[in-house]
Amino acid sequence: MRVVQKYGGASLATGPLVRHAAERVARSHRAGDEVVVVVSARGTATDDLLAQAREVSAGAGGGALDLLLSTGEQASAALLAIALESLGVRARALGIHEIGLRSDGCSGGAQVESLDPEPLRRCLAEGLVPVIPGFCAVAPDGAITTLGRGASDKTAVILAHALQADRCEVYKDVPAVLTADPRIVPEAAEVPELNYDEMLELSRTGAKVLQSDAVALAKKYSVPIEVRAFSSGRAGTRIGAELTGVDRAEVVAASLSMEESAITIDGIPDRPGQLARMFRTLADGGLNVDTIILGIPEAGRSQVCFSVPREDCERARAAAERLRIEIGAARVRCEGAIAKVAVVGVGMQSRQGVAARMFEALSLAGINILMVSTSEIKVACAVAESDGPRALRAVHAAFGLGRTPAAGGKG
Ligand code: ASP
Ligand code: MG
Repeated sequence: MRVVQKYGGASLATGPLVRHAAERVARSHRAGDEVVVVVSARGTATDDLLAQAREVSAGAGGGALDLLLSTGEQASAALLAIALESLGVRARALGIHEIGLRSDGCSGGAQVESLDPEPLRRCLAEGLVPVIPGFCAVAPDGAITTLGRGASDKTAVILAHALQADRCEVYKDVPAVLTADPRIVPEAAEVPELNYDEMLELSRTGAKVLQSDAVALAKKYSVPIEVRAFSSGRAGTRIGAELTGVDRAEVVAASLSMEESAITIDGIPDRPGQLARMFRTLADGGLNVDTIILGIPEAGRSQVCFSVPREDCERARAAAERLRIEIGAARVRCEGAIAKVAVVGVGMQSRQGVAARMFEALSLAGINILMVSTSEIKVACAVAESDGPRALRAVHAAFGLGRTPAAGGKG
């Protein structure tokens, strides 16, 4: 059996935790598995390094910042290898230039272009456990680039694919993917199995368990993922392609994102091409627009409302203001802080009334809905930020998610 094991920052935050991770790797190695380990920076190391950079220069960015942030993952890899050696496991911490991962060179959020698996294969052939710093790859000019926040999950999935591993195990401080964030919904239950699309929707709508790009890659390459409890090692949630909508609960989990803002442009002269022009400008400005709501025009004027990640709120507002002048719209409004609550499940494709049930739950809780967006397997509602946690609890209860393990539970 060949497995990629990924350990996140929380699992490596202290010396005893690093030793615990090493013991877990050693157990798999001694059981005869070929183990490839991918690590994130310890604890809050990435945030601390970012803060250090901003202390020196408020606008810190570019290649030097990538180099600085990459030290967090390198330190983790070296430490874990030291712990493994102390347990008698022959391990090899790889430097970023030794992994064979090549990026497009885009600083701060590079895309991986290729992986030469030979160095890793050689380690495995020699019976060594390779320990790899996640989150980093080498640019065409030889510089180190980072792959975006949370991207060591992505490194793990790419390696699992390239090495044809049997699975990618992701160790977390939660025992599994849960039906909701347990800090907000204490009765949240474990979800034993998820389809890639379900996990993708959950990651995109605020679940912090796995990075969404990593899930998208796992789907593309059919890499089976297991979310495992760091403390016990038990497999909590299996994520794969098998599950379809038949016999599946209509909703398997709920999520909450508190990281969005909404922009509204009122009084847009109703002419063909206006939306094309507006959203082209926003896209070219690098703004990632999510929910879009277009009103039916009245008296030759229409209205559009869209959501953006909160960190982009000011940029989006400024862009909308410039557009307003260009197209002769009446005004721009900005809700700086909205929350989005979502329910997800492939089973909803074959059933009716999921949206109605969600709206009823929010209505019973006295919560006002600002925007709605849906996909085939998701219904999401934007609400006032202060209503977010209550909204999550209300929909979690309405779909009966906490009582029994969600998959195969309700019909
Ligand atoms: N250390 C990086 C971050 O926090 C990558 C990761 O944790 O996956 O964003
Ligand atoms: Mg991290």
